[in-house]
Amino acid sequence: MGESASTKNFPHIAICPSAGIGHLVPFLRLASMLSSSECKVTLVTIQPTLSIAETNQISTFLSSHPHVNSLDIPLQCQPPLISTNANNASTTTSKGSGPDPFMLRYDAVSRSAHLLTHHLSTLSPPPSAVFSDIMLVSGFNQALADLGIPNYVLITTSTRFFSLTTYLLLEGATQDGTMPKLELNNSIDEEVEIPPGLATVPKSSIPPPFFNPNHIFTKMLASNSLALYKVNGIVFNSFNSFEFETISALQERKVLSNLPPIFPIGPLKPFVNEKQGVYPYTKWLDEQPDKSVLYISFGSRTAMNQEQIQELGVGLEKSGVRFLWVIKTTTVDKDEKVDSVDELLGEGFLDRTKERGIVVKEWVDQEVILDHPAVGGFVTQCGWNSVMEAAQRGMPVLAWPQHGDQKVNAWVIQKAGLGVWEKEWGWVGQKLVKAEVIADKIKEVMNSEELRRTASKVGEEAGKTWDANNGGSSNRMLNNLISSIES
Ligand code: UDP
Ligand code: UDP
Repeated sequence: MGESASTKNFPHIAICPSAGIGHLVPFLRLASMLSSSECKVTLVTIQPTLSIAETNQISTFLSSHPHVNSLDIPLQCQPPLISTNANNASTTTSKGSGPDPFMLRYDAVSRSAHLLTHHLSTLSPPPSAVFSDIMLVSGFNQALADLGIPNYVLITTSTRFFSLTTYLLLEGATQDGTMPKLELNNSIDEEVEIPPGLATVPKSSIPPPFFNPNHIFTKMLASNSLALYKVNGIVFNSFNSFEFETISALQERKVLSNLPPIFPIGPLKPFVNEKQGVYPYTKWLDEQPDKSVLYISFGSRTAMNQEQIQELGVGLEKSGVRFLWVIKTTTVDKDEKVDSVDELLGEGFLDRTKERGIVVKEWVDQEVILDHPAVGGFVTQCGWNSVMEAAQRGMPVLAWPQHGDQKVNAWVIQKAGLGVWEKEWGWVGQKLVKAEVIADKIKEVMNSEELRRTASKVGEEAGKTWDANNGGSSNRMLNNLISSIES
């Protein structure tokens, strides 16, 4: 006879995100899903957060999940172990190259890992398992093993990008985590095989920091990827039909032979936000015809330069489509100035387009927008959460990757039939993408019946993956994951 609900010991899971919205959101979703699956959940956050958006997301999550415990850990405030001069911490931003505050925060967070394990050891009941971010793995593994707590990693990018990085970093890596396979003297048009015979990625899609073994990001990912061999499981926010080839290759250990068990359980389900609902932009959307509006957003931390913003504006005008456009001009939201959108966009733009578009320069509720019937297309930077949110809704996408994993994610979008990607547009700030080509792509996304059909199919498949009655793969994987913790 099975255990009755009153005698069963539900697993206690500690959820440990690192920094940035792109890493926080999937952890909150996982926390919510585990909490609904009768797990006791403790959300561990390192405070203070870098952005206002993270603070808001955490407090919204906790107020709508009163059963979830929260454990705040102070950030380790010593100088970085890795030198952070502009050459090895930089990223391309709207203002040129400079240290990326999120990279520096990952470094600080990973140096706080020992504090986390100390606090985790004091929790009662002790955690049955920890789910941690990739940036924490190397700091966690040994300490958690000493405490006898299994460590699972939730990967916040595509399985394809994960395969690329782990293959490059682990197959060729030396002890100090350099990547001998990537050398700048090779042609940028060259394709890199991950692994040979399985898939190829053009070098132009590989994040530029990977070509510099001393870059803070390359070093952090290298040391943390090496630690992946010792975790108890690797969880992905992706689903079988969306990334079939890569997930199969990972499962069959074709990418890396010694990987621990993998659990693709995406698209992670949204958690209910009690405050979600009516905003000025949703009121405006209510007045627009079905599937007529293009939603444009480059995520939580990608700033565009003014020249490109204005070119995109002209492209929108030329395309003639209705639009809801979210603008960001700084990497961290705290730095955003309340300057005039009118000035930013060029005089007269708002006036000329007021009948068919709105521009917002603040945090929006993206899922509410994507759920709105008036929205028929999405221009995205291809952050993996946005990709999964579009996939879940079968929303046609114009992929405009800007940095990091985003070109590889854009490839996945195109391959799955969710959207189109113009490879020539380059990384953020690399070149000015002209209004005419932007307008053409916008029209293609909004007018293509074929794209609408294939994207809608992606949405159906995403729904099926959670269908418990018909063997939905993510549903099954989540059950397997929870069983592996209970056993
Ligand atoms: N997001 C949002 N409103 C915004 C900006 C972002 O709701 O104004 C959400 C978006 O829905 C997604 C996450 O923040 O869940 C951004 O993560 P993603 O991986 O797409 O991109 P990143 O921000 O890390 O570049
Ligand atoms: N990344 C990774 N493995 C992970 C999570 C992230 O390789 O498990 C990559 C991610 O895809 C991106 C980079 O780490 O290329 C930096 O992540 P960041 O948070 O800066 O990017 P974001 O998702 O916010 O755009």
